[in-house]
Amino acid sequence: LKRSYRNTIRNKRLLVLINPFGGQGTAMTRYKTYSSPILTAARCRVEEVETKYRGHAAEIIENMERLEQNCDAIVCCSGDGIPHEVFNGLSKRTNAAAAFKVPVCQLPCGSGNALCLNLVGSNDLSFATLSAVKGIPISVDLCSLTQDNKRYITFLSQALGMIADCDLGTENMRWMGESRFTVGLIMRVLAGAKYPCRVSVRILHESRTQIRQVYLEHKNKEHTSTSEHTQLPDLKYGTVHDPVPEDWKSIDSSSLAVFYVGKMPWMSSDALFFPAALPRDGYLDMVIIDSSIPKKEIFSILLGVAEGKHFDSKYLHYYKVDAYRIEPKAHSGYISIDGESFSFAPFQVELHSGLGTMLSR
Ligand code: ADP
Ligand code: MG
Repeated sequence: LKRSYRNTIRNKRLLVLINPFGGQGTAMTRYKTYSSPILTAARCRVEEVETKYRGHAAEIIENMERLEQNCDAIVCCSGDGIPHEVFNGLSKRTNAAAAFKVPVCQLPCGSGNALCLNLVGSNDLSFATLSAVKGIPISVDLCSLTQDNKRYITFLSQALGMIADCDLGTENMRWMGESRFTVGLIMRVLAGAKYPCRVSVRILHESRTQIRQVYLEHKNKEHTSTSEHTQLPDLKYGTVHDPVPEDWKSIDSSSLAVFYVGKMPWMSSDALFFPAALPRDGYLDMVIIDSSIPKKEIFSILLGVAEGKHFDSKYLHYYKVDAYRIEPKAHSGYISIDGESFSFAPFQVELHSGLGTMLSR
């Protein structure tokens, strides 16, 4: 209790970005019904902006005058797409490092609300609103991603293969809400989908025993927002167009089914996909599943995901890494970055310890 009251600010000045397109398209009504009254009762000073198109939130954040001085938190009333845009907007500000100290939080109104699930521990909207009021800033790892001569920020996940197809190839099933991901996945496992590619990766831990140990070491460390960064960090490993560093391990696969990398444990309320992930441990968790394993095992892995039981399956690879590159070999397909669609082309990712700030319960 003591911890949750420390460092909280009264009469918080909040910039609320509302995505009317997220989830089933009800963000505005839900915000007015469940969130706005709580923010008013807490006497927050609120500026509400409705996003008008994809990329609008990033533009707002990049261009807002005196954001660092005038805003105590950026509140994303959306799925994970708006936080993704917000971090990218922050990275383009001239004083990026100072800008990254403005805490970001989510009022869950999309079909994928992982930020809130992981930081607040629930995707209940009223509860998340209360956490926006009372939450404390913690520093979190963010990652740079390079693709096609551009640099992006990713805070949550990168996927290619079945999971990416489910994130992005199920747009036609938005009406289903969160279930669109599950239904999409079952359809793809049954079809035996394959995604040939080459993965080059800096693996730091690969045995499950080691990974468990690392997790326990970092689990209870407290991380307040004291990042050592003074500006947007340089890329340690260059971009996707540079040669792959010699000490990275290369994995060629003609029959990859799932390539999924996460920075936080919960990917949806029924998927503890990265049970060993922590927002500020300095690692990305990488899961690779090959389609050559029996379908029965793929289903058993995917059923186990709800509670993180798949972690013990010998049929999947689970690595702690801090940088990698993936080069798809097929001509077309989906790449999902934080649930957003990226071009189907090679990309490279590296982690920046404690670069970002989020509000935690
Ligand atoms: P979901 O969890 O349902 O995917 P998100 O919040 O992630 O919801 O948003 C989905 C997409 O909507 C993101 O790519 C975001 O940039 C985009 N977006 C934001 N505002 C609008 C708008 N007014 N019209 C259409 N798309 C928008
Ligand atoms: Mg999304």
